[in-house]
Formats: sequence, structure tokens, C-alpha cells
Amino acid sequence: MITLYPFHGGIHPAEHKSESTRLGVAVAPLPARLVVPLRQHSGSPAKAVVSAGDQVLKGQMIGAAEGYISSSIHAPSSGRVVAIEMLPAPHPSGLPDLAIVLETDGEERWIERQAMDYRALDPARLRQHLQDMGVVGLGGAVFPSHVKLNASSLETLVINAAECEPYITCDDMLMRERAAEVVQGIMIAQHAMGAREVLIGIEDNKPEAIAAMQAACQGTGCEVVAVPVLYPSGSAKQLIKLLTGKEVPSGALAPKIGVQCFNVATVYTMHRVINHGEPVISRLVTLTGNMAEARNYEVLIGTPIGELAKLAGPKADTTGYLMGGPMMGLPLTDLSVPVVKGTNCIIATSKALFPPLPRAMPCIRCTRCAQACPADLQPQELFWFSKAKNFDKAQEYKLFDCIECGCCSYVCPSHIPLVQFYRFAKSEIAAQEKERKASGHARERHEFREFRQEREKQEKAARHAAKAAEAAAKAGSAAEGGDDAAAAARKAAIQAAIERAKAKKAAVQPQNVDGLPPEAQAKIEEIDELRAHAREAAEHDVAAQKTDAGQGA
Ligand code: SF4
Ligand code: SF4
Repeated sequence: MITLYPFHGGIHPAEHKSESTRLGVAVAPLPARLVVPLRQHSGSPAKAVVSAGDQVLKGQMIGAAEGYISSSIHAPSSGRVVAIEMLPAPHPSGLPDLAIVLETDGEERWIERQAMDYRALDPARLRQHLQDMGVVGLGGAVFPSHVKLNASSLETLVINAAECEPYITCDDMLMRERAAEVVQGIMIAQHAMGAREVLIGIEDNKPEAIAAMQAACQGTGCEVVAVPVLYPSGSAKQLIKLLTGKEVPSGALAPKIGVQCFNVATVYTMHRVINHGEPVISRLVTLTGNMAEARNYEVLIGTPIGELAKLAGPKADTTGYLMGGPMMGLPLTDLSVPVVKGTNCIIATSKALFPPLPRAMPCIRCTRCAQACPADLQPQELFWFSKAKNFDKAQEYKLFDCIECGCCSYVCPSHIPLVQFYRFAKSEIAAQEKERKASGHARERHEFREFRQEREKQEKAARHAAKAAEAAAKAGSAAEGGDDAAAAARKAAIQAAIERAKAKKAAVQPQNVDGLPPEAQAKIEEIDELRAHAREAAEHDVAAQKTDAGQGA
């Protein structure tokens, strides 16, 4: 029995879990058309490796990872690619995104699937394979898992099975029905990182899942830990604190304190990849809320959400849909958007279940938000600074430690939509940072142009000096004064070489391009290449002048 270390704050919203756990997991039918966005994970979107008109097999790679922080995308079923185009995507920006549209043939013809012995695999090879098979975090952040697995000498692997947000039950049902497979996935993650211990945190409102996981963990050394129901215990930092007593420092990642955390559904996909040779093409999704038959479904990625929602029978008074939970979910404005890897829940809303919030009133400085904040922040101060666009101050008050859990908004007696202010401030800061990097890029180009102009000036000076030397050599070949003229010309040539060397030294070093869009990075690389050629030419000239000067001496 391990000791628990409670985190600060937290709230107890109504759970609404039982509605969708009365029935077992069902398989959603194969849609006639699947829309598979190339951006389903954090980092760079995948790059399409098929074209319209191509026939594809179920599980075939159709989008390849583009860069290290990226992941591959696979055909969820066999059929024909009918388009690759910009389509509505389930994203907070509401902007369309590039997607591969697949017309399914109903035959479900698989690629050749091969199981692997992960114990025989070098960890780097294992990580590469998981990237190629599209494994990303399914708990919400959709961060590519191979990046998180690249952490060595870990003390603790935490498996996040808390599932603390109201209404969502897909992890609960996964553990109830597929506990043995989940544990096999945990073994793969533990092997990849060499973690000494494994702690599986499950909220104690899931007794069936706890029992199933305890039985599956027998003899593995993994420990199932029942944690008290308290939102947001399923947030990685809060669960790590709860289970280990360690706090992830502000601005740092969990491996800094010897811990890594994976969602339970993510390790399940690792098992499917390694032990069955199946890439990530489906996931469990909870259909709940204002529905006649709330339930969990195994759903192919790319299934249109409107089509999926019909399976659970949305009631006539449904007012809309949320993707995710009521605390952190995304309201859907377009039901043609597809299920993606990060889609864990679809909630049908109604006025009875989600009554409209009263009008926001002024802050009364009651500090209830600070008492509820699990990140130990001062939400009321963050609110003032965000509202006043005082972003420096907001950052000073650790805006980026805010996990957008919504606890502060939930308890605020003035009904202030606090999280919206934090999201606004974060996006403004991100936009400013992008602009700053872009202007740094423009400055680089300007400085390179200046460097090139200076080099051309020096070359011109060198040519003139060479001509002068030649003329002096001719004129003074017979005269005694000829030696002086040649010496003067050599001096001028050496001076020109020194000037060019100075110009080269003054050339600006490449800026840090991390985080810029790939096209901007490519442009900078192109400029760097040009600069390298220019330097090479300048160095060549200096060397030549030195030789000339040496020979003339
Ligand atoms: S809970 Fe609301 S009213 Fe109270 S201090 Fe926080 S923001 Fe202000
Ligand atoms: S949304 Fe941010 S500020 Fe509000 S309680 Fe959660 S972590 Fe704290």
C-alpha cells in the first residue's frame, strides 16, 4: 500500500459516469467515407504519401511523420483515396485542415501484420517503430509517444488511468474489458525506458476496472493504486504528485524528476502495434449526455462524428455536442468533422444537463479560485493581467503552468469564464513569439545581404589592388622605384584580404530556428547554405592573397 500525497485544490463536479458503463463496448459500423486529417498529434502534421485514386489496405501508411515531433497516419480501412483536401477539423481554432478522404470498399483487407519481440529490440529501434505506427498520447495532449519514451534511468512509470473528467468512461471500459492487453502495453513502455517501478493510478469510482487491472498485474511488479475521486487527478502533474509526492518543476517535464506518465489507452495501442502489428487506426469513444443509449464504441479514426453520434440516439431536445468532457471539452460547430486520435468522448448537450451560465459579474476578490486551483496559481491575478493584456505579468504569475482544467471557473461566484481569458493570453503570447522569430528571420536575411554587399566591395578593392600591382610591376620593372610600387600593391592586397576576413567575422550566426514552421526553417537553411558558400569563397580569396603576398615577399 503506497502513501498518497494530495495535491492542492481540486473540485467535485457531478460524475455522470454510470450512464455510459451499463453496456459493454460495441464496435461502430464501417462508414462509407473516412476523413483522416494529417494533423492529429502535437508537432508537425504528417505528409501524405498517397494520391487521389490510390487503392489502400487497412493499416497502410498514408501519411508519414514529418520530423521528430510528428507521427504517421494510417488507412483505417481498405478502399480508395478519393481526395486530399482542406476539410473541417475538430480543432479549437475551427480552421479546416488537410485530410485524406477514403472511400471504403467494405472488405477490410489488412496489410501484412507482423508481431515483434520488443525485448529483442534496441530502444531506439522500438521508438522509431512506434512513430512509424502512429502511436501518440490518447489522453488528450496527443503528444508523439516515441518522444516521451526517449527518457532513460527513470525511477517511476506512472500509468494515468484516473479518468477524472465527468461523463468520460472509455478508459474505464478499456480496463474492464482488456486489462491483460493494457498490462502488456505497460510492459513495453517499461522496457523502453527501463523504469524501476510502475504505478497505475485509477480513481476509486471504478471498482471493476481496479479489480480487472489488479488481476492482470499479478506477478508483473506493477502496482494498481486507487486514488480518491477529485478533479483533476487525471492531469499528469497532479497524478504524479499524488502517487509519488514529487512535483514537476515549473516549465520542466516529468523526466526531470525521474518520472514519465502515459495514458492507459496509449499503452494499449503500444500492445496492438508490437504484439499484433496493427497501427493506430481506431480508439474507444464514449457517446453520452443527452442520448437514449449512452455507451462506449470502438471507432475507426476518420468516422464522421455526426454519423457516430446517431448510434447512441441523441434526444430531440439536444442543443449541441461537445468533444471531450464538460470541463475541458471543445464545442463542435460542424458534425462532419471526424473522430481523431484525441477524441475520447462525444457529449450531447441539452438545457437541462448544461443550463446556460448566468451573466458574468465583476470579480469580488473572494479567492475561491485560488483555493480550487490544482496548479497552486492565483487565477484572479492571471485574470486581471490577461484582461489588461499585461502578458509579462501574466507570465510572471506562471500563466503557462495553468493546465486549463476549469476548476477556477467552476467555483467562481461571479461566473467569470476565467479559462477563456487564459487561453486568449496564451494564444496572444504565442502569436507574439512567432512574430518575434519571424522578424529574427527577416533580420538574418538583411544581415546576410549586408555581408554579401561588403564582400563584393572587398572583392572589388582586391581587384583594383591587383591591377595596381600589375601596372606598378610593369612600370617599375626597370626602375629602382619599381620595388616600392610592388610592395605598395602587395600591402593593398593584404589589407583587402584583412577587410574581407573582418567582414566574414561580422557575419551573423544562425538564430535558433526551433519552433519555426518547417517552411521557415527550410528558408533559413537555404540562406545558411548561401552564407556558407560566401564564406568559403572569402576564405579562398584570403588564402590566395596570403600566398601571393608570401611569394612577393
Ligand atoms: S473566484 Fe471569481 S470572484 Fe472570486 S476571486 Fe476568483 S475570479 Fe474573483
Ligand atoms: S484553469 Fe488554470 S488557473 Fe484555473 S484552476 Fe485550472 S490550473 Fe488553475
